[in-house]
Amino acid sequence: MTDTNKVCDLCGLIVEVSGFTLKTKEGLKSFCCEGCKSIFQLLNEDQLIPEASDQDHTN
Ligand SMILES: [Zn+2]
Repeated sequence: MTDTNKVCDLCGLIVEVSGFTLKTKEGLKSFCCEGCKSIFQLLNEDQLIPEASDQDHTN
């Protein structure tokens, strides 16, 4: 057994490819694919923490 495999926070499948993650108020969520990530985003918009961005302050 290994604890390096995360499971998708949407569908519960093993996450084999890292990179599909979202920062939320409950912590970092991992997903198995872009589809699951997108669905989670739609369902939990108020839980998401936007990536740091200062594009509004680039004068
Ligand atoms: Zn999934």
